[in-house]
Amino acid sequence: MSFIHFTIGEFACKCGCGANRIDEELVRRLDWIRAAYYPWTLNVSSGYRCAARDRAVGGNGNHPTGLAADLIVSKGARLRDFILACHAAGIPRIVLYHNLPHVHVDMVPNRPEGIYIR
Ligand SMILES: [Zn+2]
Ligand SMILES: [Zn+2]
Repeated sequence: MSFIHFTIGEFACKCGCGANRIDEELVRRLDWIRAAYYPWTLNVSSGYRCAARDRAVGGNGNHPTGLAADLIVSKGARLRDFILACHAAGIPRIVLYHNLPHVHVDMVPNRPEGIYIR
């Protein structure tokens, strides 16, 4: 599968192990968001993480499923547009952080759906 904006390589584990089991459907939806709905920069700060990397950064197992990504999204109106686009694209879970610059999105099954602030 090829994408307009993203490459699968952008979602590889950043620990240096080179592993990348990112889910292509997640990337497809993010690509659609960026192409159709959010025509601004969307940098991947974390995509797939191996289990060791996830532990090292205090993750809770979402990224090792390949169904989660962290993105740098502009705040204000653009953040609103991004969230609306996530809903339109069928991305069920969004987490915003008070003290971290990225927005977490995931499609991990059997987790509560909605927008969360941590
Ligand atoms: Zn790794
Ligand atoms: Zn995340």
